Amino acid sequence: MIIDGIKESAKLREQIKKEITNLKVQTNKSPKLSVILIGDFAPSLIYVRNKEKKSKEVGINSEIIRYPYDITEQEVLEKIRELNENKDVSGILVQLPLPPQISKEKIINSINPSKDVDGFHPINVGNLASGNKGIVPCTPLGCLILIKKIEKNLSGKHAVILGRSNLNGKPMAQLLLKENCTVTIVHSKTKNLQNECRKADILVVAVGVPNLVKSDWVKKDSIVIDVGINKLGDKLVGDVQFDEIKNKVKAITPVPGGVGPMTIACLLKNTLDCFKDR
Ligand code: NAP
Repeated sequence: MIIDGIKESAKLREQIKKEITNLKVQTNKSPKLSVILIGDFAPSLIYVRNKEKKSKEVGINSEIIRYPYDITEQEVLEKIRELNENKDVSGILVQLPLPPQISKEKIINSINPSKDVDGFHPINVGNLASGNKGIVPCTPLGCLILIKKIEKNLSGKHAVILGRSNLNGKPMAQLLLKENCTVTIVHSKTKNLQNECRKADILVVAVGVPNLVKSDWVKKDSIVIDVGINKLGDKLVGDVQFDEIKNKVKAITPVPGGVGPMTIACLLKNTLDCFKDR
């Protein structure tokens, strides 16, 4: 089965839209997402415009605050302080990557954790690790939703996460641990990577190496989630050799059209959740 991330994300956005419409009737208020964009790095411009478009479609007010590439860290921190205090702002997102004069850590740490729609603030990271309520990073959250469409009860499944980034691999591992999976995290220093991956009932790959995972790396009837987005010539490909693997496994996400659309839908979900918590 090929997991249709476009269809699943449209369903999630529809639910979000309905809930926002109902809340507006009850409270006369709507969520607001403030996005800070620094410089004009082309992929960031595309991501931010897409986030704005999808936000508007579900009834989230979205503002993009743009700064030139040479803006100082102090000015950005001041803006974040202002957004933290603004009662109308439900969620704050600073589009990465940042220019070298601005510390990613300082910026992330300055966002009010209850408005941190990316789920990168240490408080939210800690909440996820402790199994407490908090904001979960959008991409792993989207992956979990897709996995649970295939298999509701994940208890006792062996999940292998390929990649250990703070953005994807680590939060994914925490989420699957919370679902009572037995979780193994593998990375560039892992010995016998292929053998480890072959043990997976659920394999989540977030590496950024085109077509790394081959057919003999996956177990028959497993679920394979490909987070990777890589440009190969003028084509977008994942980290998994999709064509080789798709008939061997129980379910697999394509690239594009798998995890990517779920990431934006989960950003809208996190913005709505922040609004409701307020
Ligand atoms: P990252 O921070 O670069 O982390 C990559 C991870 O993969 C690291 O843990 C690294 O190991 C591991 N790795 C790299 N090469 C490897 C190899 N040959 N064998 C085994 N492990 C290897 O990447 P990321 O931010 O997690 O992103 C991963 C991919 O997901 C990228 O293609 C990115 O574009 C994509 N992405 C997609 C979405 C989406 O919405 N679909 C969202 C975010 C990112 P070490 O830790 O040992 O270095």
